[in-house]
Amino acid sequence: MRFVIIGGGPAGNQAATDAARLGVEVTLVERDIVGGAANLWDCIPSKAMIATGGGVSSLERIAGMGVMSTGGTVDLAVVRDRIAGITRHLEEANTNILTSQDVELVTGSARLVGPHRVVAETAEGEREFVADAILVSTGSRPRIPEWALLDADRVLTTRDAYPPKVLPEHLVVIGSGVTGVEFVHMFASLGSQVTLIVSREQVLPLKDPEVAAVLEADFSRRGVRLLKGARAVGIDRTEDGLTVRCDDGRVVAGSHALLAVGSIPNSDGLGLTEAGVEVDARGYVPINHHCQTNVPHIYAAGDLSGKLPLSSVASMQGRKIAEHVVGGHSVAHRHLNYDNAPSAIFTEPEIADVGLAEADAFAVGRKIRVTKVPFASSSRALIANDPRGFVKIISDPATGVVLGGSIVGQHAAELISVLAVAVTAGLRVADIVDSMLVHPTLSEALAEAAE
Ligand SMILES: Cc1cc2nc3c(=O)[nH]c(=O)nc-3n(C[C@H](O)[C@H](O)[C@H](O)COP(=O)(O)OP(=O)(O)OC[C@H]3O[C@@H](n4cnc5c(N)ncnc54)[C@H](O)[C@@H]3O)c2cc1C
Repeated sequence: MRFVIIGGGPAGNQAATDAARLGVEVTLVERDIVGGAANLWDCIPSKAMIATGGGVSSLERIAGMGVMSTGGTVDLAVVRDRIAGITRHLEEANTNILTSQDVELVTGSARLVGPHRVVAETAEGEREFVADAILVSTGSRPRIPEWALLDADRVLTTRDAYPPKVLPEHLVVIGSGVTGVEFVHMFASLGSQVTLIVSREQVLPLKDPEVAAVLEADFSRRGVRLLKGARAVGIDRTEDGLTVRCDDGRVVAGSHALLAVGSIPNSDGLGLTEAGVEVDARGYVPINHHCQTNVPHIYAAGDLSGKLPLSSVASMQGRKIAEHVVGGHSVAHRHLNYDNAPSAIFTEPEIADVGLAEADAFAVGRKIRVTKVPFASSSRALIANDPRGFVKIISDPATGVVLGGSIVGQHAAELISVLAVAVTAGLRVADIVDSMLVHPTLSEALAEAAE
């Protein structure tokens, strides 16, 4: 069995490791770095920048604990080197795991030249591989609207911001979804003045309004200006910066703009249609619950598959594909349920959720039990001098089964794992209440909300 993978992001990387472990002969073709855009541009650099910003904003919090410090000035060169160091370290770690599993790593750009054939353009020339199974996991890239004047020094995509050459004096962030708000938080913490253009009436339009309200309150406390109900339609250069035009006639001046208006799949030039693989009108590759495309031995995963664009989802797809390729999906195999994927937003406070949302339950008239506990009553939150936020658990009133939940507050992205396990395993609120937890910890708020 020969398995050829195009794209070594979380999906391709995980599929390669797991399939090799299961005895499959694996070739992975990657044009940039093993670990993918997730490590080079997206998850890792953004969180590393946020960690630097967190260091600055923690000065305020620790001042309340009696630690007197001055400064908080950021050296962008150090930030840049640190991010490059983390990326390099992760790339090496990923490469070592793959090579220790005898995965053949090919550096180059690959495309399908038939249903069972892949060609890779490498520095040494073209190489052709014949495969029994193929995974296409080439990810996505930032969407750049036609109206966005592209001036790499002033108009940034998320890929130019780690960090930019100079800290923007006044950054106008266009797009108020997860990526947009993380960049607002990042640059506001680093000391930039920030304006956020919000197309609807709340930031994070798809999230629970109570959750979005906590974030908006924090933004307003930090002087972030929210321009609500406006869509950007143009960017013009001025002598010392730029202006962003909105569809309602408003114009915002800033020194820089950052585009966070979604992504587009990397499906062009891959030879998919020629190999008989269906590609939808937006460029995504539709898949079934085994991540198979319409051509059964060709799989697609990660951002390219148009499912939840999360690294964690991509690697879980990779894991399931490896099992399926070996004819696995054995007794232990469980179908991937995208509804159970937790997600997090690394702002301050952090935001995380999983499973059923309150609004979605109300929309379909489903009876739910909602319990909410604020961190203001958590001893650990008070000790850490950050009692913002809450834990909310949604359960089935008849059975007590945990259906979902949201957490806003310090370490929410870590704490949500408890609810993610509960939702995936079908645990009841009583199972959380009956678990002994360390005191004093933030997780105690979970047990309290479960009562
Ligand atoms: C700013 C930002 C922050 C994010 N933060 C998070 C986060 O904190 N947590 C989270 O879960 N998700 C996060 N995401 C989403 C996450 O990055 C993606 O969902 C994830 O990277 C998708 O993984 P993937 O396997 O599709 O591949 P990618 O990580 O997109 O990698 C695809 C790989 O394919 C390679 N490739 C493409 N075409 C070819 C070709 N023809 N030949 C060879 N190689 C090719 C590319 O070089 C790339 O390395 C973030 C996204 C953005 C934009």
